[in-house]
Amino acid sequence: MRVLANDFTRLWDVCRDSALSAMDRVGGSGWYILGKEVEALEDALTQACGHGRVVGCANGMDAIEIALRGLGVRPGEKVLTTPLSAFATGLAIVRAEGEPIYCDVDEHGLIDPEAVQTCLEALPDIRFLIPVHLYGNMADMTALRGLADRHGVTIIEDAAQAIGASRDGIAVGRLGRAAAYSFYPTKNLGVIGDGGALATDDEALAPMARALRNYGQGSRRYVHEEIGLNSRLDELHAAVLRDAFLPHLEAWTARRRAVAQRYLDKIVHQAITLMPGPDKEGGVRHLFPVLAPVGRTEAFIAHLADSGVQAGRHYPSLIPDQPAMRNRSHPPSVFGDLTRAAAIAAREVSLPINPFLTDDEVSYVIDTVNAWPG
Ligand SMILES: *Cc1c(COP(=O)(O)O)cnc(C)c1O
Repeated sequence: MRVLANDFTRLWDVCRDSALSAMDRVGGSGWYILGKEVEALEDALTQACGHGRVVGCANGMDAIEIALRGLGVRPGEKVLTTPLSAFATGLAIVRAEGEPIYCDVDEHGLIDPEAVQTCLEALPDIRFLIPVHLYGNMADMTALRGLADRHGVTIIEDAAQAIGASRDGIAVGRLGRAAAYSFYPTKNLGVIGDGGALATDDEALAPMARALRNYGQGSRRYVHEEIGLNSRLDELHAAVLRDAFLPHLEAWTARRRAVAQRYLDKIVHQAITLMPGPDKEGGVRHLFPVLAPVGRTEAFIAHLADSGVQAGRHYPSLIPDQPAMRNRSHPPSVFGDLTRAAAIAAREVSLPINPFLTDDEVSYVIDTVNAWPG
């Protein structure tokens, strides 16, 4: 048997007809970028995720950059975030000319409120905080929002892995000024290409984000009020996402949760540590991370690969350790030690999880893990 981390041919089997008719509609409309389809998708996401406003853009990284710029980050201003994330989180801060500061995570791999508190007390000039809802689990937004309010810090949630997630009844985007989504194909709601969105209840940020995504052109044509980006969303992607994929999101999330529950119940191995997450019902199981014993990560991945199970690593290197960050004229600032983040980076292995796994495949992954001589 072969179990892939993602198999998009199965996605296409399910969504082909509605995707093709959406494509036909866009092709025949004669309008291909930032039009009615993008607006309809923005409305649908506003409804589906309970946000005030949604602004489509080219990808998730841009959504973070646009949120920072739209909320007025100034060059060199400090932005506190987690070192354990997709490189895009740190890169978006650098692209927005902010200065990333990294502090440690908790046992779930989510930015640690205690580390955040120590950092905010020591560095009063931090203006932004970007928690990442890693693996589909929400960071402790209640604690983070309390700290942010006390220190005059604005929160932008990196929700690229967490569409539809909640924690203790609080949904993504509720306590941050803005949330960034990615529609990269591997994400819980992906498109057949690149896409992203910024969600906010801030009535001033939404029009600013609309301007920023389109060269900084505001409501007056040919007048560029801001130094913007080209981060427009295609009508084609918007139409396919809304018609063919979004209607399945709830069922897909339910299936991810069911697969995760079986892994949690049935993986029993003295050397493998499970990471159930802070809220079992609220997490959306974008990834299913486990921890291998120190120094045995690659051996565990090789065992899985030998049995045909494709595993991943999220993420083997911390963002501030990446060469591109080290080579900058302002090498990354790390606050405190990153012991927990480094341990997860060294040991984490992502087991296959996606809505299209069959029960047999899930059982096979479980048996393969449990059979590791480790
Ligand atoms: C995927 C991802 C991003 C970036 O999204 P893109 O659409 O690839 O630009 C940012 N943050 C996290 C945590 C991600 O997983």
